[in-house]
Amino acid sequence: MPRHAAVHVDLDAVAHNVAVLKDLVAPAELCVVVKADGYGHGSEDVAAVAVAAGADRLAVALVEEGQELRDVGIDAPVLVLSQPPPDAMVDAFAAGLNPTVDTAEGIAAAAAAAGGTPWPVQLKVDTGMHRVGCDPADAVDLARAVLDAGLALQGTFTHLAVADEPDRPETDEQLEIFAAVLAELAAAGIDPGLRHAANSAAALVHPAARLDLVRVGIATYGVPPSADLELPVPLEPAMNVRAEVSRVRSVAAGEGVSYGLRHRFRSPARLAVVPLGYADGVPRRLGELGADVLIGGVRRPMRGVVTMDQLVVEVTDGPEVAVGDEVVLIGRQGDEEITTGEWAEMLGTISYEIVCGFGPRLPRRHLTRISHGAGFVDGWADRPAGAEPDPSGGGGS
Ligand SMILES: *Cc1c(COP(=O)(O)O)cnc(C)c1O
Repeated sequence: MPRHAAVHVDLDAVAHNVAVLKDLVAPAELCVVVKADGYGHGSEDVAAVAVAAGADRLAVALVEEGQELRDVGIDAPVLVLSQPPPDAMVDAFAAGLNPTVDTAEGIAAAAAAAGGTPWPVQLKVDTGMHRVGCDPADAVDLARAVLDAGLALQGTFTHLAVADEPDRPETDEQLEIFAAVLAELAAAGIDPGLRHAANSAAALVHPAARLDLVRVGIATYGVPPSADLELPVPLEPAMNVRAEVSRVRSVAAGEGVSYGLRHRFRSPARLAVVPLGYADGVPRRLGELGADVLIGGVRRPMRGVVTMDQLVVEVTDGPEVAVGDEVVLIGRQGDEEITTGEWAEMLGTISYEIVCGFGPRLPRRHLTRISHGAGFVDGWADRPAGAEPDPSGGGGS
């Protein structure tokens, strides 16, 4: 019995986003970041679709995440964005991943795992984010250590801390520090390989940061990195969170709802129960904030705290609601749309945390649009296992 709540992932949107991003950043390479299960969208399907749509390579945070891609037959180059623990290097090598290194110990572990093969690795340089990456002053020595250990230097990169705030000066400062490191490598006669710095925000709005490759995560999923960015290309959100109304009930004036009975109704009210909750990634506080869901193409406010498995919305006004009606938590219904940005704004966080927050208990349905005639979209079809999305294909609903 399928759950009456799921994350629907529009793979055509992913393909569209990859295509427009690739076009935007060309001639730079496009590396699509599918860490954290593809930002909650399902890394295997997203990776397959991204590669088919033109991604040159993929990136993950963990060796395990790269292994999962290999296990389903994805053979594109995969960069591991931070230096793996020394005891994970053997697995990274066996899976043919390209690990990041930023310490002498990491380089030694990679060399030991590679056993004399010129395994391509990438060197990460900290130019101001101060999380991972080597000190700029150590970059030449570490690059030389990579080559002396018999490894290949596939790339040299850095990560930007404020690229989503276009007016701040630190992005250019970081890029200058990175350029100085690249100049030192050149002076030392070392080929840095692919030079890269840009995440989604930089790829979109800092053309100078694109260099040889951009590492694009959030934009692949059609989510703006921040509300302040003016997007130079149209992105389509891929994530839709939908459920079905499981109960409809009436309550009298003065009654309360959900744990703590914190919301009291001043007049008689109609309520609809939606079968997903904070264990699925709907933040508990959204209920108290009165966040909207869409039912019947109309916004309806949550009432009371979101519970672990269910939440309650008020449907007193507007069209009649029945058990089985579609509820859209994230996505479009009729002319209305609720974005992850709307939730992020209410909760004082970023869309990244919202998309990554939808838990494994919610099934992921990977869908391609059924189009009839000239791009007219009137339904959805589950993507057959192993098939690429076919925007022109027909099929049942
Ligand atoms: C996660 C990550 C990215 C992708 O960032 P987005 O803002 O989602 O595009 C790029 N580079 C590194 C090093 C990362 O950790």
